[in-house]
Amino acid sequence: MALINENYQKLSKNYLFSEIARRVEKFQNENPNAKIIRLGIGDVTQPLPQVCIDAMKKAVEEMSDAKTFRGYGPEQGYKFLREKIAEYNYKRRGLKIDSEEIFISDGSKCDCGNIQEIFSIESKIAIADPVYPVYLDTNVMAGRTGELKSDGHFEGVVYLPCTEENNFSPSIPDEHVDLIYLCSPNNPTGTTLSKDTLKKWIEYAKENEAIILYDAAYAAYITEKNIPQSIYEIEDAEECAIEFRSFSKTAGFTGTRCGYVVIPNELFGKNKFGEKILLKDLWLRRQTTKFNGTAYIVQRGAEAIYSEEGQKQIKNLVGYYMENAKIIREGFEKIGMKTYGGINAPYIWLKTPKNISSWEFFDKLLNEVNIVGTPGAGFGPCGENYFRLTAFGNRENTIEAMNRIKNN
Ligand SMILES: *Cc1c(COP(=O)(O)O)cnc(C)c1O
Repeated sequence: MALINENYQKLSKNYLFSEIARRVEKFQNENPNAKIIRLGIGDVTQPLPQVCIDAMKKAVEEMSDAKTFRGYGPEQGYKFLREKIAEYNYKRRGLKIDSEEIFISDGSKCDCGNIQEIFSIESKIAIADPVYPVYLDTNVMAGRTGELKSDGHFEGVVYLPCTEENNFSPSIPDEHVDLIYLCSPNNPTGTTLSKDTLKKWIEYAKENEAIILYDAAYAAYITEKNIPQSIYEIEDAEECAIEFRSFSKTAGFTGTRCGYVVIPNELFGKNKFGEKILLKDLWLRRQTTKFNGTAYIVQRGAEAIYSEEGQKQIKNLVGYYMENAKIIREGFEKIGMKTYGGINAPYIWLKTPKNISSWEFFDKLLNEVNIVGTPGAGFGPCGENYFRLTAFGNRENTIEAMNRIKNN
């Protein structure tokens, strides 16, 4: 028999969302009349913007004629899309990112997971706790960590606790690390990192010759003017940061699949001889070998959000979810519960009442008001005693859920 990659066995088998599904199914079987409302999902529910639909239909038509048919596209993504991204998300905001520094993909999860491949297996990584599981698990699979310890942390990883005490803003480590995963607006906490905080991280990265891997999948949800949408709004970030963006939450592309990575021309790693190597070149080499681009039809759909009408439509879409976020946030505040997030992100992060465990709170919400959320402990040990609700439901269910909670 072929030997397996042992690193996979270090990962915990109890996958968060399958455990949630198991408990919900059991409850529904025992209570067939209960109308369960799901506020646990990290997936969008509203249809794609009309501009995207129209653009994709047109692209499908092009595929029906040999004269306009497209086969394999460029691995880096079509220039028409890269240029629009550079123009709308960077140049118009006064940032110098060029289309040649943008790499289109079939979504940000793959990019966030694959990027570690271009770095040494010896790299020391720093990761927030709680966190989107992809950053950590892909490093475990690659063999960049030791075993899982009894405290829920992997050996060899520098964890950055994010709790009420530090306002969910990770502290700078007092040791050297090579790679730092930051996510703002954050999944699961819904909180953001300020310009001053990012400045400190960039200072640290420059001093330590570290690279910041900045996940900005929720940039479109930022409503407060002083919160940076891109890490490149901070001086010198081009020398030490890679940025990940996605059309998934911005434009409802979770099932359609499109995202991108920005790797600036100024960003270098070094080889064993200490020579500077352009990270962008390594990523292109990786992509040309392992990836053949996301569909032309999808890239045309993504391009469509970069027009006056397209921007209006995605603003409405995001606005719909953010109104849900407000309803959830205010609903909990009315019953005297402290909430975090929900202002610049579609996630509301709750402290569980009387410090009960996050799974106990999960069962309580499910049993008493038939609402499904996500236990904070599923995102890392520091998520214990917290709970995540999402604004991705429809309006009617969100209002109904908050009424149930208020009247319980
Ligand atoms: C949803 C999400 C993404 C985007 O994932 P896609 O693969 O682009 O759908 C990236 N990072 C975080 C933290 C997310 O929650």
